[in-house]
Amino acid sequence: MSTEIVKNTVGESSRSAGGDLSHAVPAPLSRYESQKRRDWNTFGQYLKNQRPPVSLSQCNCNHVLDFLRYLDQFGKTKVHINGCVFFGQPDPPAPCTCPLRQAWGSLDALIGRLRAAYEEHGGSSDTNPFGNGAIRVYLREVKECQAKARVHLMKHASDELEGTGCSIGIKENV
Ligand SMILES: [Zn+2]
Repeated sequence: MSTEIVKNTVGESSRSAGGDLSHAVPAPLSRYESQKRRDWNTFGQYLKNQRPPVSLSQCNCNHVLDFLRYLDQFGKTKVHINGCVFFGQPDPPAPCTCPLRQAWGSLDALIGRLRAAYEEHGGSSDTNPFGNGAIRVYLREVKECQAKARVHLMKHASDELEGTGCSIGIKENV
C-alpha cells in the first residue's frame, strides 16, 4: 500500500521534472566559470589516474607540479631549446624539432582557476597546494624560459588550456 503511494509520487515528480527541464534552461555559466569547472574536472581525473590514485586531501604542490608538466604534452606552443637555430626568433622561417609546451599565460591562468576551485570545494586556503610558493617559482621559471626562447605560438594566444578537452578524454558537462 505505502509502496504504491511512493511509486506514484516518484513517477509523477519525475514526469513533471522532465517537463520543466525542457522549458527552464539554467543560466549559462560564464566563460571563466565553465573553464574553471572543466579544469577542475581535468585535475580530478588526473589525480584519479595516478597509481595509486591520489585523493584531494593528499594532494600537495608536487602533484600540481607533475600535473603542469604532464599538460605540456598537449601544448601547442613551440619553445625553442637553447641551441636551436631559431632560438630567440619570434617568427621562425622553417619548422624545427623543438618541443611543444603549454604557454606560460595558459598555465598561470589555469593555476588561478584551480586555486579558486580548490577552495570552493572545501579546501582550506592555508593548505591550498595551488597557492604554494613552489608553484609560483615553477611558473616564473617557465615564463623566463619562454621569454628568452621567444616562444612561437602555434595558434591564437589565449588563456585557455591548450589541447585538453578531448585529448585527456574529459567531457564537458554542459
Ligand atoms: Zn626550435
